[in-house]
Amino acid sequence: MARKTEAKRVILEYIRKSEKAVSPAEIHHSHKELCDRVTVYRVLDRLVNEHKIHRIVNTDGVANYAACHSCSTMHQHDHLHFSCERCKSVTCLENDRVEFSVPNNYEVKEVFFTLSGLCPDCLNKS
Ligand SMILES: [Zn+2]
Ligand SMILES: [Zn+2]
Ligand SMILES: [Zn+2]
Repeated sequence: MARKTEAKRVILEYIRKSEKAVSPAEIHHSHKELCDRVTVYRVLDRLVNEHKIHRIVNTDGVANYAACHSCSTMHQHDHLHFSCERCKSVTCLENDRVEFSVPNNYEVKEVFFTLSGLCPDCLNKS
């Protein structure tokens, strides 16, 4: 139990520190002594439910996770995500927003606005 709380704290800290969105595999890789793969997924689910992190599904279908900055009781995201086709990194573009609307008989639960191309790191290398 204490171990699980510890895992949650450490993983949240890790996601908050990361400039880019992180994948469950990456989290597991850096915290092998702390938790197994199943625990990583459970902790991520819980953090999403608590509005501390959000999920971004990459163009190749992989889910990545990034910290939430202004979600308290529900997720409110209208920022864009940038997915780099070379290094596979996903970044929240917090200041770039899109406006959208849906017919009022739909309920939106998750929004994924993802652009793809080359990130600044990869552009500098080429
Ligand atoms: Zn959120
Ligand atoms: Zn890149
Ligand atoms: Zn984001």
